[in-house]
Amino acid sequence: MSKEENIQIPDVIYDPFAKIHYKKGRFFGKGAFAKCYEIINAQNNEVYAGKIVSKKLLVKQNQKEKMTQEIQIHSALNHQNIVAFHSFFEDSFNIYIVLELCKKRSMMELHRRRRVLTEPETRYYMKQILSGVHYLHSNKIIHRDLKLGNLLLNDKLQIKIGDFGLAAKIVYDGERKKTLCGTPNYIAPEILNKMGHSYEVDIWSVGCIMYTLLVGRPPFETKSLKETYERIRKCEYKICATLSSHAKHMIMIMLQSDPSRRPKIEQLRKHDFITNGYCPSSLPISCLTMAPRFD
Ligand code: ADP
Repeated sequence: MSKEENIQIPDVIYDPFAKIHYKKGRFFGKGAFAKCYEIINAQNNEVYAGKIVSKKLLVKQNQKEKMTQEIQIHSALNHQNIVAFHSFFEDSFNIYIVLELCKKRSMMELHRRRRVLTEPETRYYMKQILSGVHYLHSNKIIHRDLKLGNLLLNDKLQIKIGDFGLAAKIVYDGERKKTLCGTPNYIAPEILNKMGHSYEVDIWSVGCIMYTLLVGRPPFETKSLKETYERIRKCEYKICATLSSHAKHMIMIMLQSDPSRRPKIEQLRKHDFITNGYCPSSLPISCLTMAPRFD
């Protein structure tokens, strides 16, 4: 980070609407546009995540529109498995978004350390992912970039879905979105083939997430993006023999080329993998680094 860039994020950030000063704390992470810091309300010491986007990066009209869209969509959401949106404001340098802080980073870091999760852990996380996505779909929102890095974890290892930068609102029943500005990680075949897409793209991504958690690597991973896209188009992936039959079935129904054949979130929440078998009500923090023993 250059010095000049750094200077433009002040040590004390002022929200002029709410008249709140936030002290800038430690750096949390960096995305395509945003830098994320821990920020502390100077009046009551409450801690938040400050997602800060430099206005210098928002030069094109469509980048500004995307930022406005992200704020519009995210600020209307309220659910225990969605990162809570507190407020937003700006100064002449930056846009500031004040969010619920997720101290245990994301499922990406969890995946890097643990690789393969146990089925009870996967059931525990999947229930929460499905609950959050159910809320989004019930409110006519498609996330469109569900991936491990956007599934944040709080102190209690509860899932909080974040980053609504690629999200879209379905305006009328049956609408198919034609465009998507960006590159989703677990991209569905109908997006690659530009066939128009809707809620089913999130189901595809959830299928890729569940596969990755249980197998330890993504289903369509290859050396190059081009080959990966070919595999996605052909729906070519290997299911691991060691998985339980319920887990295999649940992954298989989500990873189908034809979006209309994929189950809805309501059906997935009733799937045998979710409803049968042990599901812990909470996980110890040690699960970030070590497989738990359920005995
Ligand atoms: P971008 O929209 O630019 O891709 P992200 O939303 O991905 O930005 O945020 C960038 C990084 O900041 C994330 O990878 C993550 O490490 C961190 N981050 C984002 N939101 C939070 C949060 N609520 N709590 C903790 N860290 C967060």
